[in-house]
Amino acid sequence: MQERNTLQKQIVQQKLAELGDHPTADEVAARVQEEYPTISRATVYRVLNKLADSGEAMRVRINNGADHFDHQNFPHYHVHCSICGKVADVEMPIEEMEKFLQDTSGYRILGYTLQFDGICPKCQKNQSKQ
Ligand SMILES: [Zn+2]
Ligand SMILES: [Zn+2]
Repeated sequence: MQERNTLQKQIVQQKLAELGDHPTADEVAARVQEEYPTISRATVYRVLNKLADSGEAMRVRINNGADHFDHQNFPHYHVHCSICGKVADVEMPIEEMEKFLQDTSGYRILGYTLQFDGICPKCQKNQSKQ
């Protein structure tokens, strides 16, 4: 059982990395099942949540939408397109912001969630065509 779990975890991790670009759990499950039809959707969901909980992957929570997952687990931030739902990475000098906040509020910052919503370049183009 332990061995099977490890194998399933490896498969899910590999497919998540192959997909890149912040897939949803559904997208990862579809990709896994192309090659391993015996692995259920529920298993893929369970493995993804475990990976996110253990910090081996990142969960990107979207307001009013399905969670996306990222195989890159170093600290970084995301912008979400409110039209097509695409999730992209953003580079942010967050340490400076954190320092500013500590200096001005007196709080020692333990954590934060930061999530940007916007319209991606592709959707902006489509909008201007109409
Ligand atoms: Zn878009
Ligand atoms: Zn990311």
